[in-house]
Amino acid sequence: MKKGLTESAMGLFLLVMVFLAVRYGSVETLSEETAAASERPLVVIDAGHGGNDPGKVGVDGSLEKDINLEIAKRLKTYLEQSDVDAVLTRETDAGLYSESDTGKKAADMQNRCVLIEKNDPDLVVSIHQNSYHEEYVSGGQVFYYKDSEKGRRLAEILQRRFDYVLGEENRRQPKANGSYYLLRNVRCPIVIVECGFLSNRREAALLNDNEYQDRLAWTIHMGIMEYLNGK
Ligand SMILES: [Zn+2]
Repeated sequence: MKKGLTESAMGLFLLVMVFLAVRYGSVETLSEETAAASERPLVVIDAGHGGNDPGKVGVDGSLEKDINLEIAKRLKTYLEQSDVDAVLTRETDAGLYSESDTGKKAADMQNRCVLIEKNDPDLVVSIHQNSYHEEYVSGGQVFYYKDSEKGRRLAEILQRRFDYVLGEENRRQPKANGSYYLLRNVRCPIVIVECGFLSNRREAALLNDNEYQDRLAWTIHMGIMEYLNGK
């Protein structure tokens, strides 16, 4: 009996509190803030490879997975400074598989897709570095899924932006692709940004330079802002 009474008193107290909060605006302010937060665009940044998968290995011995992660983390910071929410597919060296997985690469790719679908972002940028058997080849290139109009638009913006980082010599065009796993399996607009060639000695040195990584992240961030603002 006594317990029941206490509970009713508590219930009444809470009711009064809610009434006061609504009456004097604090709940309204809170819901406005929540609404504003949910209206922020969300970008998933995928740092390619990781763990037992180094990606491309540079002429200088540097590993693609490390460079991808550096650029991805810097890009996240720049996006957040521009009021865009950003989620990384990995924040450490570890890949997205467990030691018990027999097909680690397949598990890793599937888990990246699951993470992307769960976050339901406005777009995905997958960061990679390239390599080629002829050393003279250099420059950045952006890939998009062949049937995605939005992906193509994002790729064109980012490809143009490479000129600011690399200078005049970057003559590459964004390229449609229908076979890359992430491009085929992710439903929202997604691009793969190959920032440069680790097989080119000059570019490999640049890609390992913190200031250059920062310039790449800044440029990709500017391209994403251009895409989001033009939506
Ligand atoms: Zn790669």
